Amino acid sequence: MDELRELYQEMLLDHHKKPRNYGKLENANRHAEGYNPLCGDRITIYIALKGGVIEDIAFEGSGCAICTASSSLMTEAVKGKTLEEVEGLFGRFHDLVTSDPDTEVDAESLGKLAIFTGVREFPVRIKCATLAWHTMKAALKETDESVTTE
Ligand code: ZN
Repeated sequence: MDELRELYQEMLLDHHKKPRNYGKLENANRHAEGYNPLCGDRITIYIALKGGVIEDIAFEGSGCAICTASSSLMTEAVKGKTLEEVEGLFGRFHDLVTSDPDTEVDAESLGKLAIFTGVREFPVRIKCATLAWHTMKAALKETDESVTTE
């Protein structure tokens, strides 16, 4: 289990140092801003939505390591997915980070998102991990309101 924990930690740091899909998306037709006042994380999500599919997605902003890594992995996870698939992923991710730390994790269905398993042990960090997802959902709903985790 310690080896897995180390691997997760390494992947998290990698996505923090080299976030994927970072920057503004020129052809975006949806966007939303997210703010987590508990930590100071602030991000903007851009989405190019076409025919019910997330054709492209990007984010920018400044956040802690967990927020940045989560945004990076979230964009990778939902790119090319239909809205239903995204809803399913969101549900599984949300269940993961809000579950009891002793609950067994279905790493297979989570893919790389399983690296956030450790977040469960640090409840104040859960909002850092979920901010990108809530902001992505707000962008899909096309509300212009900013999201705050409070
Ligand atoms: Zn944070």
